[in-house]
Amino acid sequence: MSSACLNDRHATGLDETGGLAHIGRMTTTLETGPETEVLISGGGFAGLALAIALGRAGLAVAVVEPARATGTESAFDGRVSSIAPDVRRMLTGLGVWARIPESQSVSDIVVSGGTVGGAASPFFLHFEREDGGAPPFDMVENRFLQAALRATALDVPGLRLIDGARITEVATIPGRIAATLSTGETIAAPLLVAAEGRDSPLRDRFGIKTAGWSYGQWGIVCTVAHERPHEGVAQEYFLPSGSFAILPMTGNRASLVWTEREDLAKAVMALDAADFAAEVARRFTDYLGAVTPLAAPSAWPLALQLARDYIAPRFALIGDAAHVVHPLAGQGLNLGLRDAAALAEAVVDAGRLGLDIGGMAPLEAYQRRRRIDATLMAGMTEGLNRLFSNDAAPLRAVREAGLGLVNAVTPLRRFLARAAGGTELGEAPRLLKGEAL
Ligand SMILES: Cc1cc2nc3c(=O)[nH]c(=O)nc-3n(C[C@H](O)[C@H](O)[C@H](O)COP(=O)(O)OP(=O)(O)OC[C@H]3O[C@@H](n4cnc5c(N)ncnc54)[C@H](O)[C@@H]3O)c2cc1C
Repeated sequence: MSSACLNDRHATGLDETGGLAHIGRMTTTLETGPETEVLISGGGFAGLALAIALGRAGLAVAVVEPARATGTESAFDGRVSSIAPDVRRMLTGLGVWARIPESQSVSDIVVSGGTVGGAASPFFLHFEREDGGAPPFDMVENRFLQAALRATALDVPGLRLIDGARITEVATIPGRIAATLSTGETIAAPLLVAAEGRDSPLRDRFGIKTAGWSYGQWGIVCTVAHERPHEGVAQEYFLPSGSFAILPMTGNRASLVWTEREDLAKAVMALDAADFAAEVARRFTDYLGAVTPLAAPSAWPLALQLARDYIAPRFALIGDAAHVVHPLAGQGLNLGLRDAAALAEAVVDAGRLGLDIGGMAPLEAYQRRRRIDATLMAGMTEGLNRLFSNDAAPLRAVREAGLGLVNAVTPLRRFLARAAGGTELGEAPRLLKGEAL
């Protein structure tokens, strides 16, 4: 899971002239099976969103996903995600949002510094909704979003979901990539997309290197019930060993994303239920009254990881396969869905012009559009994490003054809020503006 193991490369590259090229353990003779226009490896958030967008635009798409649909996906695993307004517009346009049974609008985000059990710093940053406009974001349980994407995908003609399989071999054949699945089936397509998450094997297979490092922190996630209503306000406390975000959910519930140094996180995860509840209460302060964890916490190791390229001949990376950022700004999933919007637009536009949908022109257009956004977000979250995950007194003074300053400088505050909403960083893809592809 660490970025170290992600630099293990064994691919030799692709032969764009159409000859048969060797990639990893590729076979030299190949019987191609069915054809599709876009083959997607990974049926998570980014992969399914891309598949739906392309399928609804009339392209034939296949999605290969190792997990098997069991029919029990509705169990809550404690994970909740913030959905930015532009991504919500895309999900609405694709018919996904209407299938999400419940979500919580966030009316304000209050960011403050502090110490465990101490009072919040008097310096804080507000990202309230502006001029009665859209709220900064919505909170959605991951299981609801995943189920809504899957149910929508099942209804799209020309979209094939292949569960319980993965791609084991790839080869180029004239104008296409042929992928052999673990089931033995071979599927050929002009474009192959990896949406396999942070440990993407295809990214390695295509020789795309990554840059990054482990944060030495874990994100501990837990849902709690609290006494008083949250009024839709999200709180983010910057404590010395990391951020402690309280994200409102429906009812008197909140999702905690508690970033902690790895050694301390291991100790926290080893606590029994009563001691864990006491540690949560100490960090929560009293503003929502008594808090009760609703389930055992889960934890994820945190890393920064950026792919050096998002594309190779007839191949593209989207989502966490392309970039992993610190969760303190709740932007990883949003970045991945923006990738899906941009790649879908590049592919569909190329197809309409009669161009090769897997050719370098649409792929380069996609990469130009998306790499800068993910890199800026990685830099912003990296800087905030460095500034705040530190208890040195001079840094504490600087960061507290810094938060007050940012709040006072309205245009900067607006820029940061809009950047988080995806509306400030260049011309947005049509799907993110709520338009049809
Ligand atoms: C603690 C924490 C809190 C977070 N909170 C937020 C938030 O509030 N908002 C936000 O925007 N983001 C948040 N994120 C980030 C977000 O969860 C990720 O960015 C997002 O899940 C990435 O989506 P994805 O589809 O790219 O990858 P994934 O969700 O990792 O999906 C990858 C898919 O590929 C499949 N797969 C795996 N291996 C293979 C293979 N070999 N072949 C084919 N398929 C494969 C997997 O089964 C899975 O279905 C958070 C992250 C953490 C750790």
